Amino acid sequence: MIIDGNKIEKAAMQEFHKGNRQEGLRIQEEFASKFREEFKSKDHCPCQKACRYHGNCKECVAIHRAHEEHVPNCMRNMINKRIGLLSELTEHTIANKIIPPKEV
Ligand code: SF4
Repeated sequence: MIIDGNKIEKAAMQEFHKGNRQEGLRIQEEFASKFREEFKSKDHCPCQKACRYHGNCKECVAIHRAHEEHVPNCMRNMINKRIGLLSELTEHTIANKIIPPKEV
């Protein structure tokens, strides 16, 4: 099962956008139940850093909310896609001003 860009969850969002909340919730639960089943024992966390909170989303998200410096690793591709689109507006010249922190 692929989580990121999942077709079932995308279909759920389409229903929400059309105003069909009940159908959106039904489809969303289909995604969630498949997720629950498939990842009972499998690792669902794409983060490659050695971390004691690996796969523990509740604590990982709480930590990131608490420090407010950046989002959990699993959310970065999604956000970078949108930043990439915005960055086109300046022909990605923002890249000349960015110095990633050492730990990245
Ligand atoms: S929230 Fe944290 S623990 Fe959960 S998948 Fe994302 S990076 Fe991994």
